[in-house]
Order: sequence, then structure tokens, then C-alpha cells
Amino acid sequence: MATSTTVPAVELNHVTKNYGSVQAVKDVSLKVEPGEVVAFLGPNGAGKSTSIALMLGMRRATSGSVTLFGENPRLANHRKRIGVMLQESGVPETLKVRELVELFGRFHDNPMLTQEAIKMAGLTEKTNTRLGRLSGGQKQRVYFALALVGNPDMLFLDEPTTGLDVEARRSFWDQINLQIKRGKTIILTTHNLEEADALARRIVVINKGQIIADGTPDEIKGHVGGKHVRFRATDRTVEELNELTGVQFVQRIDNKFEIYTKQPEAVLAPLFKGEVELSDLEVIGAGLEEAFLALTDNDKHTA
Ligand code: ADP
Ligand code: MG
Repeated sequence: MATSTTVPAVELNHVTKNYGSVQAVKDVSLKVEPGEVVAFLGPNGAGKSTSIALMLGMRRATSGSVTLFGENPRLANHRKRIGVMLQESGVPETLKVRELVELFGRFHDNPMLTQEAIKMAGLTEKTNTRLGRLSGGQKQRVYFALALVGNPDMLFLDEPTTGLDVEARRSFWDQINLQIKRGKTIILTTHNLEEADALARRIVVINKGQIIADGTPDEIKGHVGGKHVRFRATDRTVEELNELTGVQFVQRIDNKFEIYTKQPEAVLAPLFKGEVELSDLEVIGAGLEEAFLALTDNDKHTA
């Protein structure tokens, strides 16, 4: 254990993965340190599951190198340290929840009590129910219990809440947050911005196989330029406002101006000093959703 803090949990070094002519992952480099909680955020087909499969040694990189705990991900002894929840996990429908979780626990040296894993996944009431009788959301909880039962240091959760309704998603977040509090290293994927924001301190935005942003939720939001300043001003023109320091973009919407800027204070200062009468002033933060859309719409972003 002493050495695990000095070695990245996962490291990808110029990794590319092609499926025939499809470039699923393109020259991705990334380090995840022990204790980090990282969300891979990207639309369908972005390369999230492929990235996870590479980290787990389930797929081989076409080029570049991948390590898990500083070693080849294919080494069998890593499996004891990781818990994995993948998008498609075929499980026998006739087994009961308890039986399946117990079975998985046996693959590990130091499993937690079956009932504890079931409880952590929020499934206590379904302990003796057969898999075939569970809803999709409940099955996802079973997969989560299977990821937890081995007492792993690190969790890989591939779209853990996709398909869940809002309430089920939020309660799942509570369970994941509990694991975060326990200090687990977590890599999860999602196409849900709110989810990335709610769970992770680091968001890696991936689109078309490439990392287009990597930072805290606030940094990701900042990528798009930060703020909108909106106001009414009768005797100004778009051209005039465009000349002001710090202005990225000006548009006129109905009878209001809207300025896009990273420095709202700098933009507003000369306006306040002038003779102009401003009214209905609003300064609005650009949301994560907006940042994400701007990033994924725009291929020229590279960092
Ligand atoms: P995500 O998980 O972000 O939705 P994936 O990693 O599953 O994305 O897929 C990335 C790209 O690779 C997509 O274009 C997908 O169609 C393609 N792809 C994934 N798996 C395979 C495969 N086994 N064979 C061929 N193409 C694949
Ligand atoms: Mg996927």
C-alpha cells in the first residue's frame, strides 16, 4: 500500500484505439492519482467505454501505453483492487441478489459482508429477489453491489445512472458519494452534466475520441467565456459595445444587449462611467451545460 500513493492509479500515454477504420480514442494522455474522483463526460460514441476498457486491460491500445497502478492492466492481481460496473453486464436471471453478490465476493481475498454490500447499493429490500424480477434501475444497483463487494481501492463505473429516473439517479448519487467519502479512487463516465458536477472534483470532457477539456467543474464552466452581461441602453450600438475591453461577443436580443465576457467588471466599468443610462442590468454565469455544448460543438478546442 505504501507504494500505491506514489504511482498513478491510471496512466494513459498517447493512447489511440482503432476499431477498423473507426478511431474510438485518439492520442489521449491522462493521469489519475489515487484518491481522485474523475468524471469522463461526453456524448454517446465519444469513446468513454473504450477508454475504460483500455484502463482495465479489456482492450489493447492500437498505440500508446496504459498502466493500472503503475503496471500492465492485464495483470490478474489488479482485479482484487478494483470494482467494475460496466454498461452491459450479463448476469444469470435466476439467481437471487444475495446469491450473486455472495458469489462475487468469493473472488476476492477480503470481501465485505454480502449484506453490507447490498445495503450500500440500497438494495436491502430486494436481498432475496431473483435478478429476473428486478427493474432496470434495481439491476444497476446490483451491478454496483458487485463492484463494491470486494472492498476495492478503486471503482470504475461506466454510465452508472443512465436510464434511471431523476429520483433513482439522486439516490444512486448518495451511494456513490458514500464511496467518495471512504476515499475510493473513482473513474466514472456519464453524458449527464449535472451528474459530473455533483460527483466529481475533476471532469474530463471527451468528444470524438479526444480530450477537449480537463479541470474542475468551475474550470470547465470557465472555458466558454464565463459570463453574460445583459442590459438595456437606448443610445448604444452593437459595434460600439464590441470595442470595449474584455468583450468577446455582443448581440442584440429584442431591446437588450447581451455581452459575452470573462471580465464582466472590466466591461461594465466604462459603461457606468459614461453618460449612458443602463437599466435592467443582469450578470449571468454560463452554466456547465452551455460550456459543454460550446466545447463539443467546436472542434478547434484542444485543451
Ligand atoms: P461511449 O462509451 O462514449 O458511448 P464508445 O467507447 O462505446 O463510446 O465508442 C466509441 C466509438 O467506437 C464509437 O464510434 C463506437 O461506435 C465505436 N466502437 C465501440 N466499440 C466498438 C467495437 N467493438 N467495434 C467497432 N466499433 C466500436
Ligand atoms: Mg459507453
